[in-house]
Amino acid sequence: MNQQHIHCLVDTCHYYAQGNKCVANEIMVTNDEFGSQQPDRIDAAMAKQLSPTPADTCMATCCKTFVPKNSNKINADSVQKMS
Ligand code: SF4
Repeated sequence: MNQQHIHCLVDTCHYYAQGNKCVANEIMVTNDEFGSQQPDRIDAAMAKQLSPTPADTCMATCCKTFVPKNSNKINADSVQKMS
């Protein structure tokens, strides 16, 4: 299986790693409206079942997989840190 290669500068995220890397095994990007309305359990593992969420600018998109470091919601979805 190919490894993903995502750069991310959000160093307060549980999946952020040194060198500005995302080490989540998968992520889901949505528009801001969807991201703010859906609970944390709605994430990458469910992506195939979800409808597209259009956006017009990069500012209107978000990483739905973001979860703060040391949050008690780290296991709310099935996303894992890659080893
Ligand atoms: S899950 Fe999203 S916010 Fe967190 S490190 Fe990965 S790309 Fe960045």
